[in-house]
Amino acid sequence: MTATTTPELVSYEDALATYDPVMGLEVHVELGTKTKMFCGCSTELKQDANTQTCPTCLGLPGALPVVNEIGVESAIKIGLALHCEIAEWCRFARKNYFYPDMPKNFQTSQYDEPIAFNGYLDVQLEDGEVFRVEIERAHMEEDTGKSTHVGGATGRIHGASHSLLDYNRAGIPLIEIVTKPIVGAGERAPEVAKAYVAELRELIKALGVSEARMEQGQMRCDVNLSLRPHGQEKFGTRSETKNVNSLRSVERAARFEIQRHAAVLGAGGTIIQETRHFHEDDGSTTSGRVKEEAEDYRYFPEPDLVPVAPSREWVEALRATLPELPLAQRNRLREEWGVSAHDMQSILNAGAIGPIVATINAGADAVSARKWWMGELARNANEQGVDLGSLPITPEHVARVSALVTAGELNDKLARQVIDGVLKGEGTPDEVVDKRGLKVVSDEGALNAAVEEAIAGNPAIADKIRGGKVAAVGALVGAVMKATRGQADAARVKELILEQLGVEG
Ligand code: ADP
Ligand code: MG
Ligand code: ZN
Repeated sequence: MTATTTPELVSYEDALATYDPVMGLEVHVELGTKTKMFCGCSTELKQDANTQTCPTCLGLPGALPVVNEIGVESAIKIGLALHCEIAEWCRFARKNYFYPDMPKNFQTSQYDEPIAFNGYLDVQLEDGEVFRVEIERAHMEEDTGKSTHVGGATGRIHGASHSLLDYNRAGIPLIEIVTKPIVGAGERAPEVAKAYVAELRELIKALGVSEARMEQGQMRCDVNLSLRPHGQEKFGTRSETKNVNSLRSVERAARFEIQRHAAVLGAGGTIIQETRHFHEDDGSTTSGRVKEEAEDYRYFPEPDLVPVAPSREWVEALRATLPELPLAQRNRLREEWGVSAHDMQSILNAGAIGPIVATINAGADAVSARKWWMGELARNANEQGVDLGSLPITPEHVARVSALVTAGELNDKLARQVIDGVLKGEGTPDEVVDKRGLKVVSDEGALNAAVEEAIAGNPAIADKIRGGKVAAVGALVGAVMKATRGQADAARVKELILEQLGVEG
């Protein structure tokens, strides 16, 4: 076994009693552009392997790249939203290394001239405290292709008989966002890491530059972590846990590394600078490769691309298009809706802020918009294991259902059936109402007839009510609701029964 083998892990509390964690988070975001970063190939996924390629993204001799304007625009928007300075002039650089998923033998990236630098992102922790994470840089680069290792048991390269390569992803634009060393978070470091990635994801989605779905690899995080003894200025040696792809895993990876570093250091060992793999099953990390130094990549400015020199007018025009930042929006909505920090967190975790706001914009009141998305629809999404945005119902549909309830044409129970119909693909709310015959019976004549029938069919109960036992009215209301297949307004039914029996309500 190597020197990186972990002795017994140290408990989290003991680790923090001796050391301060220092973290650095590198997040890659795949942009939602229609075409790749340096050629016109489509970025659409799930196509047959190697059908979305051309001489440029395959690195054939003589092919020349051209910069995707929307890629640059997205990078500037991200930079501005992160309060960064935007370079007046910057270049792409070649990062040279060989790996079969990268046909050019270099990745077109940015090195010492990133498009955006020196910013920050405020993130809110579970208890409401705001922690500022400083941003070092955000730069543009391109994704690699995808290798599939065949023949082994685990899908890993070890034990595989051969590998398949798909270059459809090669050249899809990526923005890499790198934090400055995060210090001072103490025992909350893993929580800060998770909150940062969560807030960054909200920001990216709000900017509309990517859907930032971590489970689909559209956003992934490398967690750098080191420990230093309390009171020591100098940073310790870091490990870099690569490609962590869920919020929970980011937190777990940071936590595990704190415990592992403390164990190694406590036993008199040294941490070597290396990359590590995170394992979802038990939350551990294992050694990857010893970290390259920048000089191993032989970076040099890309000679085939012109420098990027965004005019200040363009930058300011883009700044003017920025939406309200998600944290500010959540604080504003909390006030407007009068909900607790805890409830707002649940709404955020459910991914319901966007749908609720859109439903309100489509005419619904805030209370019913929240009620539907956080109730019926959240339950449905949960059951199917999808997020709210993937349900086959639109905010306009929900607003329409809410309007029908307000107008008294649907009661709550019927409204739930309408939602159910829309989710089952039976059409718009109005179509479902028609097809399923769902409408509150508001025709007083029909209601009165149903009430008469219920009284005639239950003489004993009717006598009780006449005798003053008004609470017994529930049984008759139930009978009328049954007769009208739930399509009556229960409160009105109760009034009519009491009226017919000549009893005060
Ligand atoms: P590399 O490309 O080698 O990973 P970067 O500078 O792009 O290097 O990213 C390193 C990340 O780790 C940055 O977020 C940086 O702030 C952070 N970092 C640097 N030194 C340390 C350290 N000693 N401990 C923890 N994090 C560190
Ligand atoms: Mg790195
Ligand atoms: Zn191409």
